Amino acid sequence: MEPITLEELLQSRDNRQERQRRFLSETNCKTLICLTVVMPGSVKINKESLVIGLAAKDEIIKTFNKNTIDSEEHILKTGYEFYLTTDIEPLKAKKLCCLIEENHILGRLFDIDILDKNFNIISREQVGYEKRKCLLCDNEARFCMRNFTHTTQELLCRIKQLTDEFLTFSPEFSLKYQEIFNDF
Ligand SMILES: [Zn+2]
Repeated sequence: MEPITLEELLQSRDNRQERQRRFLSETNCKTLICLTVVMPGSVKINKESLVIGLAAKDEIIKTFNKNTIDSEEHILKTGYEFYLTTDIEPLKAKKLCCLIEENHILGRLFDIDILDKNFNIISREQVGYEKRKCLLCDNEARFCMRNFTHTTQELLCRIKQLTDEFLTFSPEFSLKYQEIFNDF
């Protein structure tokens, strides 16, 4: 899989903001859910990040079901993105997404942002959850990221271990997305 450049990374952030703006201008929507995947290193799209993204998407769709207004998926070289607008209030939506992140075997690798109509991002602390922990130790994730506590290789290894475990126990998931995985 192809690594991305810094320019592509910055461009992808701009594009994401543009999409967020478009979604939040929808009339009935109260909240935007913006899902990306935690994937260290310069290769952002690979089998692991797809498994994580699609697993998170399935959970979000299941959770917001009838309260969904609109949704959109992007499988990009710069990473997996999924957007969903809902008429559920931002704080309640954040709580529901924190539950997904806490309870799913791959939840630690889901990056689910909740935005209100004014583009404010709701934090985990606002709904009573702690900051996210590192994948490999008890520190806060941000701490290890800033201090390069672990190598990219170590992190990718742990991610592969988790996605392999998930796939083993979810044959129906593998089957459902077989065609997408065949390309990776
Ligand atoms: Zn750590």
